[in-house]
Amino acid sequence: MATLPIYLDYHATTPVDARVVDVVVRHMTTAFGNASSRDHTYGDQAEEAVEIAAAEVAGLIGAEVRDIVFTSGATEAANLALKGIAWAAETRLGRPLRIGAMPVEHHSVLNTCQYLAEHRLAEISYFHVDDCAQLDLDDFRKKCREGLDVVAVMGANNEVGTIYPLAAAGAIARDFGILLFSDLTQAAGKIPIDMAAWGVDLAAMSAHKMYGPKGVGALVLSQGIKLHPLLHGGAHQRGLRSGTLNVPGIAGFGAACRLRSQEMHVDEPRIAHLRDRLQSMLLQERPNVVVNGDLQRRLAGNLNLSYLGVPNGAIIARLRDRVAIATGSACSSGIEAPSHVLRAMNLSPDRVEGALRIGLGKFTTQSEIEVAAMHLSGATSEISLLV
Ligand code: PMP
Repeated sequence: MATLPIYLDYHATTPVDARVVDVVVRHMTTAFGNASSRDHTYGDQAEEAVEIAAAEVAGLIGAEVRDIVFTSGATEAANLALKGIAWAAETRLGRPLRIGAMPVEHHSVLNTCQYLAEHRLAEISYFHVDDCAQLDLDDFRKKCREGLDVVAVMGANNEVGTIYPLAAAGAIARDFGILLFSDLTQAAGKIPIDMAAWGVDLAAMSAHKMYGPKGVGALVLSQGIKLHPLLHGGAHQRGLRSGTLNVPGIAGFGAACRLRSQEMHVDEPRIAHLRDRLQSMLLQERPNVVVNGDLQRRLAGNLNLSYLGVPNGAIIARLRDRVAIATGSACSSGIEAPSHVLRAMNLSPDRVEGALRIGLGKFTTQSEIEVAAMHLSGATSEISLLV
């Protein structure tokens, strides 16, 4: 059997931890009940598994257990949060919702905002970000003062790994009585998060970025926020998200969160050390490399770099069988469009066109890093001779 390429695309998704797999399998086989079945122990067991998972998810991010609404992932959570509030606001306020967002947010946030604007349910303003994709807090404060209802500031960026000042944003939003929604998909399980202390009112999460299964996540919704649901049906989860609960996925998500709470403080420094080693090997090998993102505040597993004058598509094509890396986010790299994140950072065209997103995770090894560095430098020097 051909050997698989070295996996360095942990922002797209992660392998599932074997201990999480055990939990998922248990809830697909012996403990397979429907969490809404009140009449027998199969249902009780499933309901209990969901309660445990909610506590594990809430524990990872400093939220209340009762605030967890399980969804199919972060895309659904962002849609539920923003559309749900906008629909409720239309009834309550009789005017479009005023949303402020960073232009470097994930498409699940940006395209939901765009949908709401197109349907006159929201007016969107965009906060200024600098060339590291970092939020300009002065501009954020100014726009909050001018009048907003909801602001969206992600925990960490999925392309360049920039970590955002959520506590500062939360304090400002709170001063102006504005709700803070945060897409925590890439940040949860990698950096410590305290939603309650930081003043984050709503958050989106996804299990498959933290060694859990795909197709499960959560909207975290603080008490008192009025939302209209996206899905109507059997009124599961307080009517906010109808549909039989995905108990194996939810239990697996909970286990993944518990493991991250226990282990991230050990795993993340090790991952950062490997990333720094890879970064220095790549910078040493070729003169035309620049690193993108905020080097002071960056996810441990992120390395986004540009080989100036070398198109990223050519590098990926050459490496395909040996190293799995990406030109941008998994959701958009199928489309031939330059990254909206790098464009919002106002980087030069050759920096945007040469950008590669490398993502390391807890299963990445030192030897994988050495081999990947060799392949990458080899491929870029070969292409440089051709272009
Ligand atoms: N937000 C961010 C920052 C992401 O990286 C992703 C996944 N690419 C999502 C949202 C969407 O998550 P999901 O796959 O769970 O819908």
